[in-house]
Amino acid sequence: MIDLRSDTVTKPTAAMREAMASAPVGDDVYDEDPSIHALEERAAELLGHEAGLYCPTGSMTNVLGVWLHVAPGTEVLCDVNAHVARAEMGAHGALTGVTMRTWPSLSGRLDAAEVEKIVSPDAGPYLVSTACVAVENTHNFGGGTVQPLDQLEAVGALCRDLGIAFHLDGARMANASVASGVSLETYGRLFDTVSICLSKGLGAPVGSVLVGTREQVGRARVQRKRLGGGWRQAGILAAAGLYALEHHVERLADDHAAAKALAEAVAARAPQAIDPAAVETNIVALDTGGVPATAVVAAAAEQGVRVGTVGTRTVRAVTHLDATLDQAREAGEVLGDVLARVEQAA
Ligand SMILES: *Cc1c(COP(=O)(O)O)cnc(C)c1O
Repeated sequence: MIDLRSDTVTKPTAAMREAMASAPVGDDVYDEDPSIHALEERAAELLGHEAGLYCPTGSMTNVLGVWLHVAPGTEVLCDVNAHVARAEMGAHGALTGVTMRTWPSLSGRLDAAEVEKIVSPDAGPYLVSTACVAVENTHNFGGGTVQPLDQLEAVGALCRDLGIAFHLDGARMANASVASGVSLETYGRLFDTVSICLSKGLGAPVGSVLVGTREQVGRARVQRKRLGGGWRQAGILAAAGLYALEHHVERLADDHAAAKALAEAVAARAPQAIDPAAVETNIVALDTGGVPATAVVAAAAEQGVRVGTVGTRTVRAVTHLDATLDQAREAGEVLGDVLARVEQAA
């Protein structure tokens, strides 16, 4: 089986396991875990912020990041396909009283003008006031889209002018950085708070980090405990995250090359499904045309290729640390043949 459902399916490497096995640990609820401190400090430094908070998931770092800025009954703005809106099980509303409004977006690509149209701080006594804008980089459901730096800067300037916060769901911001050549710090400094996942392309088994000011991270730490996220000798996991930040960032270029090869193999057989030039990072979104995406997923699985759906007519393949370039190309051939066949039958 070639498993390209997500870049979360990777297993820790032998060297990563060694780093985990030898990690010094302590009780993190007492703030005594040296490996967690090392990870939090390194992540904060890399992203250009004062402090970091290590959490089990990116959903938790997003919930905490948005919660820092958005009081109950006020709103965060994001795009219609944002992970915070679609994939966090309504946590922002269900747990922290946040409301959410979305702007439309093609491929998740940020357009500052769309944000400007709907932003509404100090909306008065009859309308909900905007407290925060959240953007995603790379954009997951959009197909691994790298956000244009000028648009990020424009939205950042807008938020500053309006006195509202700017949060980055940077689950795959390392992919964005490697693809664009824009440093993690340059991206990071545009935002008040940033969430980065260690368990996606970076290949750690668990974890995300939220960065912001020391004061914000202190408050988020208390709220994390309130959500049941206070943990103990989690330094054994943080050591994997630190290892990933030191050793698995540059190699993301390999995943991007593999995604491109996959897309080219598909396009050679089913050109209507994908334009390989649109593949920017490690996510390939395939248009299944007249057939349900689930049918394509099932047919590919029969031939040893596991992929997922991100829409009724969109299949997603994600390249990662545990899939070689050859496997990605082979998966592309299988998917291309399936798509060509179903297209003909439809
Ligand atoms: C994976 C992901 C997250 C966090 O997901 P968890 O599974 O909760 O770690 C957040 N945002 C985006 C864009 C993601 O792809």
